[in-house]
Amino acid sequence: MTESLSQRDIVLRVSDLRQYQYCPRVVFYQYVLPVESRPTYKMEKGKATQQIIERLEARRKLKKYGLQKGTRRFNTWMTSENLGLSGKVDMLIETQDRVYPVDFKFTRGRPYKNHVYQLAGYSLILEDIQSKPVTQGFVYLILQEDVVVFDMKEKIKEECRALLEEIRGMIQEERFPEPPSSRAKCTDCEYQNYCRDVW
Ligand code: SF4
Repeated sequence: MTESLSQRDIVLRVSDLRQYQYCPRVVFYQYVLPVESRPTYKMEKGKATQQIIERLEARRKLKKYGLQKGTRRFNTWMTSENLGLSGKVDMLIETQDRVYPVDFKFTRGRPYKNHVYQLAGYSLILEDIQSKPVTQGFVYLILQEDVVVFDMKEKIKEECRALLEEIRGMIQEERFPEPPSSRAKCTDCEYQNYCRDVW
């Protein structure tokens, strides 16, 4: 990291939002102290089948969004120069007047706040590069064949912007963050070799 790096030069990825919420050290290692991670089973994400997606979208709670009429795009890279943010969204559904980011979750359990911030990050990019509002985002729980709908309210988008600034501040000042309060997170972490203080 060069000393002259300003916050404006720090281009982040949407996945940083999710990882920073999980543990800020993960993002620190990736940007400030680039180290090699040890792959864990969590990183080996399979492909969702079209059948599962179609079954999910046929459910009543998604029907009201008119998704069956929308156009789907998978694994789409998006970049906002204004936000200094880019990311690859699992799926986008575009209807006539809306666009919805969809994140696929291949592990069991309900989505956490970190997934909400990830959806908010995609929403900020989409609103910047498209002229359509993003009012909801979805997490498709592939293993459970369920879907969770999140309202993309202005408050969560504001929190997301603040989080991006916080991450940039950490990177620029090279601040080594505290570990998360729950050490259970460290058990499956690909950076555990670098966090000797938590063991
Ligand atoms: S081992 Fe624990 S403290 Fe270290 S990066 Fe992973 S989750 Fe964070």
